Amino acid sequence: MSARDGFIERAGAQALRIYPNSVDEAQGTICAIAREEGGGKVLLVSGEGAGAFAGEGRDGLLRCPLTKENAAALMTLFPYTKPVSHRGRPFTFGLGDRLGLATPGHVRAIAGYGCFPVFAQQSIRELNLTGRTFADVIAAAAFGVFQEGYKGGYGADGDHLKTKDEITYALRSGCSMITLDCSEHIDIRAAALSDEGIEALYAEIPEDVRRHYEETYLAGPLPVIGAMSPAELRRIAVVFWRAVNHAVDCYRHIQTIRTIDVDFELSIDETLTITTPAEHFVVANELALNAIRPDSMAPHFSGAFEKGVEYAGNLNDFARDFVAHQRIADHFGYKLSVHSGSDKFSVFSTVGRVTKGHVHVKTAGTNWLEALAVVAERDPALYRKAHKFAIEHRGEAEKYYHVSTNVNEIPNIDLQSDAYLPEYLKIPASRQTLHIAYGLLLAEPWFREPFFALLDAHEEDYYARLVAHIGKHLRYVTAEA
Ligand code: ZN
Repeated sequence: MSARDGFIERAGAQALRIYPNSVDEAQGTICAIAREEGGGKVLLVSGEGAGAFAGEGRDGLLRCPLTKENAAALMTLFPYTKPVSHRGRPFTFGLGDRLGLATPGHVRAIAGYGCFPVFAQQSIRELNLTGRTFADVIAAAAFGVFQEGYKGGYGADGDHLKTKDEITYALRSGCSMITLDCSEHIDIRAAALSDEGIEALYAEIPEDVRRHYEETYLAGPLPVIGAMSPAELRRIAVVFWRAVNHAVDCYRHIQTIRTIDVDFELSIDETLTITTPAEHFVVANELALNAIRPDSMAPHFSGAFEKGVEYAGNLNDFARDFVAHQRIADHFGYKLSVHSGSDKFSVFSTVGRVTKGHVHVKTAGTNWLEALAVVAERDPALYRKAHKFAIEHRGEAEKYYHVSTNVNEIPNIDLQSDAYLPEYLKIPASRQTLHIAYGLLLAEPWFREPFFALLDAHEEDYYARLVAHIGKHLRYVTAEA
């Protein structure tokens, strides 16, 4: 009998149900994800390298809890479970998993679409609202990847990071991608100012910086965007000069402390105003002048990209703007990044076609809504309670997320049968209300405990829903690429 067959037999004798795709062997050590009878998941370990894992067991079979320490040992033994850079990969897709349960479903969802997944993707806001760390998030992704026997590589995105301390935290935890959010260094006052108001702020910029901008952008026509007027340049400089400095500073910080290849994305999407092509060009050109080529850039595209609902805006305007931004991205040699991509089905054909499939798309964590759909189907009473809680606490949740639907648009749940409940996950107003309530709901013990138990018991339901939901996004983006 081979060591692997012996391993499987011993597990069977101890009433452990092995996930068949997870069994793997390296350096004389066999590992698998298994489910204990009537209980949760464990990592089974046997062989020479078992000493690197913490657990207990008999007959040379170690049962290890799915902790971040055991994930670290797993990543050392099987490097494909560790996040890596996606540089050079044309189509990359950020998924994120606020619950730590979605990765096996995401693995199945991406099959056949030729995209490189970023299974771990969380902002500090999401970590705070879910009480998790980057190490927890990456551990969950690593175990999910291992459970499915997925060896295609994946990334971990420290999303919307704002400071060098946050970057340090993400990189020390194993993130392979940093998305720098410069919004706190973007001067939002400028949007409301006249040209005279801008001139006053422009005069406050250090003289050498002003001279640099004027010499660089007013000397003649620029590549891609043509000539720029002095008034336009002054406005762009006022809005972005500090953000550019911050980006340069943070990029150098990444290079100083990184221990692996790290993808760098610059995000200017969480601003009040739409990013113009001229603004995009100046920001990108300033980075280029500092010898920085980001891997992706997220401008604020025209129209509304609200969490968990369709794109709202003029699709012709979007397409025209998107083409202009893609030309700039081509000029500087990086990909555009589309944030809050969940459910933006009407823009994906344009995104796929214009970028020729060289694009980064981030979903908005709607795998949480798919989990709630499983609750609506399997435990109507729990769903009803969560639904009412989300409506009652909508104001509180709106402190973290901007949404424009109204709770009055949600059909009264007391008038609906249990069979109808999954429909609430399709109605924009209830969808958004539930979407932004994740942090508040997960902090409630009455919800948290039965919710995780239910998803654990019905994980195949959840995976099937993710395959359908995420698959729809990937199908639309890749159909035109
Ligand atoms: Zn964003």
